[in-house]
Amino acid sequence: MINILDLNLQELKHWMNTNKESEFRAKQIFDWIYKNVWSFHDMNNIPTTLRNKLDNAFYIEIPEIIETLKSESDETQKFLLGYKDGNVIETVVMKYKHGNSICVSTQIGCKMGCKFCASTIGGVIRNLSSGEILSQVLAAQKAIGERISNVVLMGSGEPLDNYENVLKFIYLANAEYGFNIGQRHITLSTCGIVPKIYELAEEDLQITLAISLHAPNDLLRKSMMPIAYKYSIEELITACKSYIEKTNRRVTFEYSLVKGVNDGSEQAEQLINLLRGILCHVNLIPINEIRENSYEKSTSDNVKAFYNKLTSFGIETTIRKEMGADINAACGQLRRSYLQGENEKKGV
Ligand code: SAH
Repeated sequence: MINILDLNLQELKHWMNTNKESEFRAKQIFDWIYKNVWSFHDMNNIPTTLRNKLDNAFYIEIPEIIETLKSESDETQKFLLGYKDGNVIETVVMKYKHGNSICVSTQIGCKMGCKFCASTIGGVIRNLSSGEILSQVLAAQKAIGERISNVVLMGSGEPLDNYENVLKFIYLANAEYGFNIGQRHITLSTCGIVPKIYELAEEDLQITLAISLHAPNDLLRKSMMPIAYKYSIEELITACKSYIEKTNRRVTFEYSLVKGVNDGSEQAEQLINLLRGILCHVNLIPINEIRENSYEKSTSDNVKAFYNKLTSFGIETTIRKEMGADINAACGQLRRSYLQGENEKKGV
């Protein structure tokens, strides 16, 4: 049995052809699914014989919402979603003036081992399929009762470590018959798997590529992110330049500020030298503290000083607004199981 959400329109049309059914049924079925009808038997313009055939070949897997946490400080909601194999992931919906944005997870856990991030504790369990990523949007959209217009691939998992499924998800989310979310409203964040950045550039998409840089030199980056042992900053920046050249899209560099580690004026200067002249944008994120490490958030004075330094050298910079921190829904706070966090709190 296949999760029908893993198929694109062309693939479902192909199935219709090989099963001696009319191709146009494929579109009808997707129309129902995107209208939140998730049982073939409720699709009342589909003949019963076909509904039965579909039931024998496919299932529609929408993860169960196990728990919803609502932030008191903003309108962020975190959903704990359970897949039928028993794995749980977290998805976050943020409300902005320009629309609803969802932060989806791409893997159950993560193997990248960034020192400051909760998602990687315990490693990776498995990749999520394109349909499983897509169904996070379906489940969340139904729960909030409003359209989701922006997607960030910044939940747990490293998107470029699950390349094929993530790429298929992007095409599905962008498809007219699907959510019809513009590519410019999709952001993919990566810790920097260099060969995959070149591969992604070849797709020539209009999505925003965000690079988790977090340090302006290799020594410091290695102390924070194991991926830095594999690819140097120079290799990473060269890949980004080639991505920009190919797509004409501005790249975002994410820089999480850790008190006394990477937030000094020396690091700001190194960062300026590194990024000057590149079509980019820097997103400063005061680090969200997690209990498994000793990294502390930079003071707001340091954040401001870092920001001022970058902007005074003409580097376009924003300070990311922290959302959902009171429900552990902020960057780096998502876990593959909420129980994981709860049990640790209780010392289990
Ligand atoms: N694996 C991808 C996407 C997930 S993380 C990546 O590495 O980019 C999304 C962003 O949150 C990344 O920039 C990540 O480095 C950052 N992040 C992780 N833990 C964080 C924390 N504790 N505080 C602030 N940002 C964090």
